[in-house]
Amino acid sequence: MDKYKTKSNKRTIPLIPLRGLSIFPYMVIHFDVGRDKSVNALEEAMVNDSLVFLTSQKQAKIDMPTEDDFYEVGTICKIKQMLKLPGDTIRVLVEGINRAKVREILQDEPFFEAEVEELIYEAEMEPDKEMKAMMRIVMDDFDKYVSSTENLSSDILVSVSEIKEPGRLADVISSYIQLEPESKQKILEAFNPYKRLETLHIILEEEIEVLEIEEEISSRVKDQINRVQKEYYLKEQIKAIQKELGQEEGLDAEVDEYIEKIEEIDMPEEVKEKSIKEAERLRRLSPSSAETGIIRNYLEWVIELPWDTETKDKLDIKKARKILDDDHYGLKDVKERILEYLAIRKLAKNMKGPILCLVGPPGVGKTSIAKSIARSMNRKFVRMSLGGVRDEAEIRGHRRTYVGAIPGRIISSMKKAKSRNPVFLFDEIDKLSSDFRGDPASALLEVLDPEQNNTFTDNFLEVPFDLSKVLFLTTANSLNTIPRPLLDRMEIIRISGYTEDEKKEIAKKYLVSKQRKEHGLTEDNISLSDNTLKAIIENYTREAGVRELERNIANVMRKVAKKIVEEKAKSVKVNTRTLSKYLGPAKYMRSEEKTSDQIGLATGLAWTSVGGETLSIEVTPMPGKGKLQLTGKLGDVMKESAMAGISYIRSKTNELGIDKDFHTNMDIHIHVPEGAIPKDGPSAGITMATAVISALSKKPVSGDIAMTGEITLRGRVLPIGGVKEKVLAANRLGIKKVLLPWDNKKDFDEIPDKVKKNIEFEFVKNMDEVLEHSLVEVQSNDN
Ligand code: ADP
Repeated sequence: MDKYKTKSNKRTIPLIPLRGLSIFPYMVIHFDVGRDKSVNALEEAMVNDSLVFLTSQKQAKIDMPTEDDFYEVGTICKIKQMLKLPGDTIRVLVEGINRAKVREILQDEPFFEAEVEELIYEAEMEPDKEMKAMMRIVMDDFDKYVSSTENLSSDILVSVSEIKEPGRLADVISSYIQLEPESKQKILEAFNPYKRLETLHIILEEEIEVLEIEEEISSRVKDQINRVQKEYYLKEQIKAIQKELGQEEGLDAEVDEYIEKIEEIDMPEEVKEKSIKEAERLRRLSPSSAETGIIRNYLEWVIELPWDTETKDKLDIKKARKILDDDHYGLKDVKERILEYLAIRKLAKNMKGPILCLVGPPGVGKTSIAKSIARSMNRKFVRMSLGGVRDEAEIRGHRRTYVGAIPGRIISSMKKAKSRNPVFLFDEIDKLSSDFRGDPASALLEVLDPEQNNTFTDNFLEVPFDLSKVLFLTTANSLNTIPRPLLDRMEIIRISGYTEDEKKEIAKKYLVSKQRKEHGLTEDNISLSDNTLKAIIENYTREAGVRELERNIANVMRKVAKKIVEEKAKSVKVNTRTLSKYLGPAKYMRSEEKTSDQIGLATGLAWTSVGGETLSIEVTPMPGKGKLQLTGKLGDVMKESAMAGISYIRSKTNELGIDKDFHTNMDIHIHVPEGAIPKDGPSAGITMATAVISALSKKPVSGDIAMTGEITLRGRVLPIGGVKEKVLAANRLGIKKVLLPWDNKKDFDEIPDKVKKNIEFEFVKNMDEVLEHSLVEVQSNDN
């Protein structure tokens, strides 16, 4: 049993279904009525007690509702006023009296008539605690609702708070709030006042939450709008200030120009996006900001790189041969190898062959051959020296965060090349070193690797640049110091030093005319005879290549040019007698006399990165405790081979006529004088042993002999490398006899015939033979 219920009442009453409208008791409201049935119902009411039963249609759009189309619970209302409007519409003013429920539809024509039951609650009944609490809760809800919506004035709160009857309170509040029709109907259907308040509370809670969310969203949107407006406003202000300061254009014009240029270049999408982004960043900066310089620098680099420019390869082997011949004297084998290499490239265009490495002493034409390769392929040429490159950043560049950062040397060289498929020469790849700043060799490996170099990424650029179309070449003086992984990628072509005759020919056919041209002289102005060239080579140069020679010729030309301008001379003759006027006193003298035979002094042949060299080894024994002292620029391997020599001598003291205790009562000092380039390698073994034996046995070493060979503990002579370079060096010094290891006989072919005529060669198998040829038997006069 409902504890608040008192009595119920049934009555017969005309019914009007309402569209989109719910009416609560106590509510006063007007609405328009147009449908015939509704008008009939109104008329019927007016002739009786002015009461109608108003109930909501479940769906507003239905025009001719049947009894299933409206809710059973509605409100009995008193018609207060009726006003006929133009047309058949009537405006009515009604007041809600009490809720009621349809028991039965008695008729549906000419109007709906129903029997309804109303439940009357004791309005005057004093609400209990529970009810009071519920009333307070709902009042609170309503308070919140009013404060979070703008549709209701807070005055309403005052009038509502005076309502003492619980049911009425719920009804009045319900009439004020905006709700879905379904929600209103729910409240209407709650006959029990407590239940009604409860229903209202649930609905209000939900409604408040929605309102709060709405509020939050709208304030967020407002915030955003405010910010956008603020930004716009500030930007306009900046523009106004700039205008005032005469910087009207800002960076816009410049940025547009950059973007236009970027758009014109056919570069990878990624690069384009990145650089346009940078350009846009520039736009947002103030012209005085330091960052603008950094971005400009970046954009200039990007724009100037050859993303889409390349030269068209023209690879005609006949023409290539002509170019190589035109530029270089001799080098027959080298030229053949290069032509083969080019032919393969022509046939297998996409084959990524090994990287050519031209190895040889300085000044033998490695760079100039690389240039000819570029010329014969119709490609641009760039050269990058790796000498002393230790920092990986030199290759890969510094990040832009570094002040004054620029791209690494690869990208800089590509910019210089102005073409994305140049011939790219890495000069002196053997001089690459590494330290704590990363490993430049590994960066280089990536550059040379056809699998990886299409996405070479420089730290400064931050975007990949395709190096896959570049033809890489390398040069080195020696192979010893080239990192192994790099060496594995390369095909070695050796270029050895030139004989004096070859040098003379090179000078005559190439260097003289080249330098003449460079100094603006003609053949009539200056001539250099063969003898003069020979004198330059012999007295002013000592080198494997022709670099010094070319420099000396250039010196002559410069002085001649000066003379012609100053003295108005037509032609100048430079001959052997006048040469010193141009080049100063001779730097190197070649003594024609036979070098004297000396005790404890032997001449060895060494092979350094600049070519062959002779080296004198001096040995002085002195009383002591068997210490072995080595001085001069000696490498570790050389020290070991000195030790091996000593061990051999100890085992042979008898045969050699040496005191068998020399290693305990003598100190031996071995010195290798002269030469800035450290010498290393075991090939001085027999020379050191010979010098020591000579010193200990007091037998002099022949002065016009030079030797090279590794020594074993038992005195065998092992083969060595660089035969040709060493022999050329011996020839330069006028040595008459050279001892070479037996196993180097195979290298004999390499030696130019001209040199073979000058020098007598002996191939030796062991130390006995070495000594046989090198020691001079002196008449013993000590018996
Ligand atoms: P590398 O690169 O081996 O140190 P370069 O290529 O710089 O030597 O050569 C030095 C100079 O000598 C260049 O002017 C070069 O043209 C010239 N040269 C070297 N070898 C020859 C040669 N066989 N014929 C003509 N000129 C040569």
